[in-house]
Amino acid sequence: MTFRTLEKKNFPLFIENLMGAMEVVGVRERIEGKYEFAPLESPSQLCLDYDVTIFSPKKYILPPRETLLKFKMGKVVSCEPVLESRPLAIVGVHPYDIKGIAQLDRIFAEANDDEHYRKRRQDTVIIGVDIKRASPYAFCKSMNSATVQEGFDLLLTDMGESYVVAVGTKKGEGLLEQQALSKPATKEEMAKRAEVQEKIPYMFSLNTINTSYEDLPKLLTDRANSKLFEELAEKCFSCGSCNLVCPTCYCFDVQDDVNLNLSAGERFRLWDGCLLEGFAKVATGENFREDRSQRIRHRIFRKGKYIYEKYGEHGCVGCGRCASACLPDIANPVEIFNRLKEGK
Ligand code: SF4
Ligand code: SF4
Repeated sequence: MTFRTLEKKNFPLFIENLMGAMEVVGVRERIEGKYEFAPLESPSQLCLDYDVTIFSPKKYILPPRETLLKFKMGKVVSCEPVLESRPLAIVGVHPYDIKGIAQLDRIFAEANDDEHYRKRRQDTVIIGVDIKRASPYAFCKSMNSATVQEGFDLLLTDMGESYVVAVGTKKGEGLLEQQALSKPATKEEMAKRAEVQEKIPYMFSLNTINTSYEDLPKLLTDRANSKLFEELAEKCFSCGSCNLVCPTCYCFDVQDDVNLNLSAGERFRLWDGCLLEGFAKVATGENFREDRSQRIRHRIFRKGKYIYEKYGEHGCVGCGRCASACLPDIANPVEIFNRLKEGK
């Protein structure tokens, strides 16, 4: 990996040049203290010292609704795949979201090749930024996601008057060369960057899981019949918000929409969530997780056991979005894991 220095006074020009070359989305303040990834119309809208965004940047790679194919019916039936994508830069992605995207890459591109996802991902440049401010619900230290060494094209670390930019890919290197005025980082700047990065996990020290990363699956196995899941279910609205804001939830539903004269239609997919009542319902009407406590347990097992057993890393990156999105305040993985550890 190479490292370059980009002075802050030259940063707006870099973003402006990027905007001339491709669509650029970045972190913007939506209302006071609430941030979102949204298209940038000017570099001044970009906010890089945010705590967390309401939704993760996943929405640009795996959209909430996406047409997969269009079909025609009649004597001859035909269908055409729809692959919608365009060159896109996502600017200001925090390390936990970089890890979330890397996990989606593994699931959609490496495990089951999904050409819709793959095409969009190939067209996307990830420009990350190291965390400067921790969200109150985030627990990145526990999930090994406070900093990252891969998964980005470029990663900015704030040095005061400049950024040290870690160049993670050839694509990132090309962009920096063509669109920015940067120079090689000095030894002193590299040492300062290492110091800054070492401190980042400690921003999350007040919000930690009392079980090690590797021991979470065993904790869940041991506590699979805990009454806690029923207690939480009494308050759960089955709204699915905890799934929808999550950077690593990837479930979707596929539906067909046929026009009124039955001559043509489209097949599309929509985000789905395991907390929604109909998620595990099958064609006969049977629902394999009819009870809310079963759905809550399933979500927690996905976050702390099943994905780890398959990919060697947890399906939770500790962003805390589920905790802040849950109205009855029962979705926080830190509280659930810690209460399970206490034997509750
Ligand atoms: S489970 Fe919650 S904290 Fe973990 S990645 Fe998903 S939204 Fe973030
Ligand atoms: S956000 Fe809270 S209330 Fe809504 S489904 Fe998730 S746990 Fe239940």
